[in-house]
Amino acid sequence: MADLPVPRFYGLVTADGVPYHRIARLPEPGLVTATVVQTCVRYDESQRCRFCAIEQADGTLRVKRPAQLAEVVRAAVLLDGARAVSLTTGTSSGPDRGARYLARCVRAIRAAIGPAVPIQVTCEPPADLSALGLLREAGTTAIGMNVDTLDDRLRRRWLPGKAKVPLAQYEAAWEHAVRVFGRNRVSTCLIVGLGDRPEDLIIGAQRLIARGIHPFVVPLRPIPGTLAHRDGLAPPPPDLVALITAVVDGLLAEHQLSGGACTPRRAASVGW
Ligand code: SF4
Repeated sequence: MADLPVPRFYGLVTADGVPYHRIARLPEPGLVTATVVQTCVRYDESQRCRFCAIEQADGTLRVKRPAQLAEVVRAAVLLDGARAVSLTTGTSSGPDRGARYLARCVRAIRAAIGPAVPIQVTCEPPADLSALGLLREAGTTAIGMNVDTLDDRLRRRWLPGKAKVPLAQYEAAWEHAVRVFGRNRVSTCLIVGLGDRPEDLIIGAQRLIARGIHPFVVPLRPIPGTLAHRDGLAPPPPDLVALITAVVDGLLAEHQLSGGACTPRRAASVGW
């Protein structure tokens, strides 16, 4: 596949001297992404999600300020035709788990780009559910709260820090988010390759879809810098991923949850 051209906005620099490409990226045509806070309270090796490399240096700023994001995303829309924005964050220690800072970033970006371009955010389910309302009021279109696997045994093995957040808290946050954002504007990732049986993944996806939540089926990709890569783990067989994806796509279509506001974020990158 031919390399994508370097986005035009990468050549610009903020008034305080920060290159735009250190603030946001265009990983695929039309989608501008940023990890607004690139640290995680769970990054100690004993707690970290084994597929995560959020704190690995990638040339971007550790903390992107709302005004910087607004400036850069506006340039991505105007110069490179970005049609969707996806923001994520590492988890903070507060009860909002980083959602309030995300809301400040969304508010600034929304003021800069207007109402037309969807902005999706991804964070852990906030313990304080009022943070979801703040995100919506700020102009967020859709939200992802990624559970990765619905099996508590696998959660403890693969995401020991995040597994301390009970599944019941994910359920409560998803339910509240569907009320705040609407059906098909709340998503979660289900990772193929953590050890779930295919039928369990499909049943889990079916239950989510019935509640208006959009599950994204993503393969485990042990990227360099992750514990999974260090352990030499392999991605799941493509045929298995294709099979589960096809079944889940059929269920999504049946429930009119195909397309819509949820933006699939690059699989197995940082900060699910
Ligand atoms: S996936 Fe999220 S919770 Fe897990 S270590 Fe990475 S940023 Fe932290």
